[in-house]
Amino acid sequence: MIKKNKVVSMSYCLKNTKGEELDRADTDKPLDYLHGGGNIVPGLENALEGLKIGDKKEVTVEPEDGYGEILTDLKMEIERKAFPADQKIAPGMQFMAELSDGKKHPFNVVEIKEDKVHVDGNHPLAGQTLQFSVEIMKIRDATPEELKHGHAHGEGGHHH
Ligand code: ZN
Repeated sequence: MIKKNKVVSMSYCLKNTKGEELDRADTDKPLDYLHGGGNIVPGLENALEGLKIGDKKEVTVEPEDGYGEILTDLKMEIERKAFPADQKIAPGMQFMAELSDGKKHPFNVVEIKEDKVHVDGNHPLAGQTLQFSVEIMKIRDATPEELKHGHAHGEGGHHH
């Protein structure tokens, strides 16, 4: 049964409310995650608690239990000259920047207009209601190393 500190292999399909597919992991290439480790969005993790191998479930995750609401504070215009002059900047590029609380946060370049770079630090799925179709394929105990790292290792998990 899925509970804290189990490593779960699952296949899933993620769609938005319009039925458009956003992401998937097929049964021949499932995703492995450490349950209770915050490796997947909280709304999905909570919904999978107690499931068994072979169980299938449809899970709807609202933004607050998914990737959060869109924060306008994370949409910013930065002067081009704030970036190193020899650094190439293009839409879709990601970089890390420090927030006012000192935490590092990933930002994506949205567009470049003259001397301004428009960036967005919201997750691409922020503000979206997520619809997961999940099938549980394997459940096993996490290894001590996985517990220490806080994520699953191996084929569908984390690689070092
Ligand atoms: Zn690790």
